Amino acid sequence: MVPCQSILQVSLGVAMDFSDQPPMMNFPLAEPVWLGNIKHDRLVLKHYCFDPHMAPEGKSALSIWCAADPDYWHWLWKDKTRYRQHKDEVVEIVIDALDRRFPGLGEAVEVVDVATPVTYERYTGNWRGAFAGWALTNRKMSMMMGKGMDKTLPGLANFHMIGHWVEPGGNVELSCASGRDVIKDICHERGLPFALEE
Ligand SMILES: Cc1cc2nc3c(=O)[nH]c(=O)nc-3n(C[C@H](O)[C@H](O)[C@H](O)COP(=O)(O)OP(=O)(O)OC[C@H]3O[C@@H](n4cnc5c(N)ncnc54)[C@H](O)[C@@H]3O)c2cc1C
Repeated sequence: MVPCQSILQVSLGVAMDFSDQPPMMNFPLAEPVWLGNIKHDRLVLKHYCFDPHMAPEGKSALSIWCAADPDYWHWLWKDKTRYRQHKDEVVEIVIDALDRRFPGLGEAVEVVDVATPVTYERYTGNWRGAFAGWALTNRKMSMMMGKGMDKTLPGLANFHMIGHWVEPGGNVELSCASGRDVIKDICHERGLPFALEE
C-alpha cells in the first residue's frame, strides 16, 4: 500500500486579476528550483477567482502545491529559526518563479502563507502531513471498483472504520460515503432496513 504524497503549500494573495487564466495550471519552469530538499522543474498553480468571496475585486487568491519530504521538514522543525528561514526561502523562490511566468506578480504580493508537512500534521493530524490516506494506484482502483477495503478488523467485534484510511484516493466525499456504507453494513448485519433520506 502506498500512502498519499506529503505536501508543501504556498498560498498567496496578489493584487492581480487571474480570472482570465485557467483555474489550474501545471507549467514547466525556466530553471528547476529546490523547495526544501526536493528539486522541482514544474509548478502547479491554482487560483480561486471563480469564487468572488475568495479575494477583493481585481485581486486573486493563489495556491501552489508540491511534493514534500516530511522527514526533512521534521528535521528542520527541531530548530524553529531554521524552519522559519526555510519557509521564507520557499516563498521567495516560488514568488520569483511565478514572477517569471506572470511579470509583475512579485510586486503584487500582499499576503503570504506557507504550510509544510509539519503544518498539516499539527493542524489536521494527517499522517506525515499528507492530504489523504492511501494513494489511488491502479491495483487499488480495481479493488475499489469491486468490494472496496475492509472496514472491520478480525477478532475485534463492533469495530467499523470510516474515513480516508479505508477509501484510497481519499477526500471529503469518499470519507462521508464510507460512513454511510458502514451504517448500511451494520443494518445488513442486524437485519434492519437501510434507506437513504431524500
Ligand atoms: C490541505 C488539504 C487540502 C485538501 N483538499 C481537499 C479538497 O479540496 N477536497 C477534498 O475532498 N478533500 C481534500 N482534502 C482531503 C480531505 O480533507 C480528507 O481526505 C478528509 O478530511 C478525511 O476525512 P476523515 O474523516 O477520514 O479524517 P479527518 O477529517 O482527519 O477526521 C479525523 C478526525 O479524528 C480526530 N482524531 C484523530 N485521532 C483521534 C483520537 N485519538 N481521538 C479522538 N479524535 C481523534 C481528528 O482530530 C479529526 O477531527 C484535503 C486535505 C488537506 C490536508
